Amino acid sequence: MPCENARDQRIVVIDDDDVMRLSCRQILQKAGYQVETFGNGHDGIRRIQEARPALLIVDIKMPEVDGFEVIDIVRKIDPDLVIVVITGYATIETAVDAMKAGAYDFLPKPFTPNELRLIIGRGFERWRLTKEAQRLRREKEDVERKFVSLVSHQLKSPLVAVKQYLDVLMCISREQLPETAAEWVHRSQARLGEMLTIIHDWLALSRIGSGSLCDCRAATDLGAVAAAAILEHQQGPGGVEVSFTASIPPDLPLVRGDEVSLRTLVGNLVSNAVKYNRPGGAVSVNAFRAGSQVTLEVSDTGIGIPEAALHRLFDEFYRVKTPETRNIPGTGLGLAICRRIVSELGGTIDVRSREGEGTTFIIHLSLAEKNAGIETQSGECQ
Ligand code: ADP
Repeated sequence: MPCENARDQRIVVIDDDDVMRLSCRQILQKAGYQVETFGNGHDGIRRIQEARPALLIVDIKMPEVDGFEVIDIVRKIDPDLVIVVITGYATIETAVDAMKAGAYDFLPKPFTPNELRLIIGRGFERWRLTKEAQRLRREKEDVERKFVSLVSHQLKSPLVAVKQYLDVLMCISREQLPETAAEWVHRSQARLGEMLTIIHDWLALSRIGSGSLCDCRAATDLGAVAAAAILEHQQGPGGVEVSFTASIPPDLPLVRGDEVSLRTLVGNLVSNAVKYNRPGGAVSVNAFRAGSQVTLEVSDTGIGIPEAALHRLFDEFYRVKTPETRNIPGTGLGLAICRRIVSELGGTIDVRSREGEGTTFIIHLSLAEKNAGIETQSGECQ
């Protein structure tokens, strides 16, 4: 493919009228453009495929392949190609149709050299702006990729190392440390742990954002994932003392999605149900099939969520600020991660809550295609 600078000046003209081709060529070459002209759609399209010019001038009324067909085909070859349509006075409506089909502008015949130069100048400006926007988007993605790698390697690794040194220090020299020093080390461990959780959640979010975390072709037993999450939190160290109940039918069909992302999803919800609960509270997990979907509900009898906060709950870094949540650690990324996973898998997540009474998160996920005889949506990620 030719480099962008060379393309910056290239025009292909397709018109069955010899005089029109000749005059376009003369006017535009004088203005400094590289012009190639063709008397029929076939030859012009072939050349566009090879040379990838920035701009096409095409007549609408031509024998064999007309302007509409040309537009249709070349837009598939190069969606960024700027197309200017030439048309007679009597066919202004046709020109409007051509613009709906993807042409950038039109030039009614007869036109003056100045009108042609003006419209072509504008067309090139648009092409340059499109290319510039694409370049900036690529640069932004590149910066984001580098930033993710910076965070994971340059920040996370040293923090893990420092935390491990402190863990070892506390393990083997706890007795020799003065009480205050031990308290400081303990606080440092806790702060480092919080920072590592933020980095872990943020990296998970960037991976999901780039569409690489969820595997929509995989099929997973959501019931088993939920049972494992409950077990993990029942056996987990410390935290709020709560009781668990579960209603998960043994024949629950597989859902679309890979185990790793579903474990993250369900784990976040169960962990919140415990974290934002009260001593002696309850957590219940219910799963059932609903048509071509599986529904999973995670309910708790905890502190609940103020109604005014519900619409922001899935935003990145959002945390409800009340006296009850003040001392509960968190990053405000868990639910943002849940929402991304669910939307990548083509499902939905909702919340119902009453402040002071409790909260229920409801997930709907599509059945996996592997469930024989079940009509499901396509395996494409959203
Ligand atoms: P984190 O728990 O790390 O702060 P999340 O994104 O998981 O972040 O949750 C965002 C906020 O939503 C929490 O800070 C909390 O205020 C509220 N929240 C989430 N789950 C519950 C729940 N089950 N009960 C009450 N509040 C909740």
